[in-house]
Amino acid sequence: MKKCKKCTEKKGTLVEKPKSEFYKTKDGVLQSNCITCQKAYHKAYTISNKLQIKKQRQKHYMNNLELYQQRYQKNKEKYKESVKNRRNLKTAC
Ligand SMILES: [Zn+2]
Repeated sequence: MKKCKKCTEKKGTLVEKPKSEFYKTKDGVLQSNCITCQKAYHKAYTISNKLQIKKQRQKHYMNNLELYQQRYQKNKEKYKESVKNRRNLKTAC
């Protein structure tokens, strides 16, 4: 069991959860917030920084355009197939 920092702050009492409820960092150490709190934080961050994230993604895409084009050419048929499947699913509903 491990203490979740955010849950404990929110409820005012010690909240412990199983270790499987926590993401690991790159170094293999468990994070201080549980997966539920981490997801809530990420969602709030994404909403409040929507424009900035969009700009960063565009910048990254433009800087790595060749890589994405190569990847697209390599998996062209696979992408076309998945788009077809998605369209079929939409019309079926
Ligand atoms: Zn939590």
